[in-house]
Amino acid sequence: MTELHASTAMPAELDQPIALGVAQVRKTRQGVVAWGDHRVTVGGGAPVRVQAMTNTDTADAIGTAIQVKELALAGSELVRITVNNDEAAKAVPYIREQLDRMGVTVPLIGDFHYNGHRLLSDHPACAEALSKYRINPGNVGRGDKGDRQFGQMVELAAKYDKAIRIGVNWGSLDQDLLARLMDQNAQRARPWEARQVMYEALITSALESAAKAEEIGLNGNNIMLSCKVSNVQDLVAVYQALAQRCDHALHLGLTEAGMGTKGAVASAAALSVLLQQGIGDTIRVSLTPQPGESRTQEVLIALEILQALGLRAFVPSVTACPGCGRTTSTTFQELAKQIDDYLRGSMPQWRERYPGVENLKVAVMGCIVNGPGESKHADLGISLPGTGEAPSAPVYIDGEKAMTLRGDAIAHDFQQIVENYIEKRFGVEA
Ligand code: SF4
Repeated sequence: MTELHASTAMPAELDQPIALGVAQVRKTRQGVVAWGDHRVTVGGGAPVRVQAMTNTDTADAIGTAIQVKELALAGSELVRITVNNDEAAKAVPYIREQLDRMGVTVPLIGDFHYNGHRLLSDHPACAEALSKYRINPGNVGRGDKGDRQFGQMVELAAKYDKAIRIGVNWGSLDQDLLARLMDQNAQRARPWEARQVMYEALITSALESAAKAEEIGLNGNNIMLSCKVSNVQDLVAVYQALAQRCDHALHLGLTEAGMGTKGAVASAAALSVLLQQGIGDTIRVSLTPQPGESRTQEVLIALEILQALGLRAFVPSVTACPGCGRTTSTTFQELAKQIDDYLRGSMPQWRERYPGVENLKVAVMGCIVNGPGESKHADLGISLPGTGEAPSAPVYIDGEKAMTLRGDAIAHDFQQIVENYIEKRFGVEA
């Protein structure tokens, strides 16, 4: 190993540019989840897709359609609904119809456990209205019966030309398979740890089920896989191994992530490690909503993870400093929030009017220490006066100081500058 000395001279062997921070790319097959002309590609070079799941009673068709619409408007590109009984299966075509009437074309995924084979057979309109079926191999039944019921669901997916996700979950792992792998492990000269056998069982369950589905005749491109666990290190280990052993598109998510900050941070920690390695073609953040919290929160966190990693851009980003003893007023916090709210709130209208505006970067900084520097790195930046500094706020546009704002209307004036900049740079005429 090279010995480092406290010297400013760069050793010749280290005199290389530091590699640019870019997520790796994993080559996968590309699946398509479609409703009518609306096709959402997953894997195979497509952008990492965001999906979410409703928590309404699916039998309540109107309530479910409303929540699907909210999730779709928030940015969910695929929405999963549970289909757990006959009432839910009967409601699915009505949910689809309501969405179509509202102009919401987001594809619906049906989440099946235990009775999916029967519900899909008994309710062909449900089977047709869904764009993808989630099949949990641990919940299709055991032994030959399980194989038959799994086969029945796959045949229906092939018949209706639907994608599937083989969604393994450690909370409902195929117990026969686990027992088989435990027995094999006991024969090893040096048995693996129980956790490692569990990892293997998750992956084997997904891969064996995918192979069966292809044998039955389903297009392998439309078979997506997931192996969800609720611990960050377990998830990273399992998906790294899964990614090496197949080229199916992978649905990535930390199951049962939890509530609030814990759920958001745990999901971001797990997903970021894997996404940076190119692992994960569609993501879901399994957040438990806090009482009164909108279900769309899980979508917003998923979007933020992808945007923070630079994998996708959804809304203009606001860089703001945390503030410190150099700026004791709340002015810059208020301005940062006002600009952030304004940019996010305007996106529904701006998406078509200002193509590319989601890549805009705005800096709102609290004082002269980092304010001018950070502002110059942004497309637009403002450096507010810290405590004791002159009551003026220099504004930077495209890295150059453009003007200085003064007085009580700094927030209003800066928002006007942002609006003008967006119109000029992203407007149709531009
Ligand atoms: S930019 Fe100024 S106010 Fe903001 S954190 Fe840095 S030193 Fe503190």
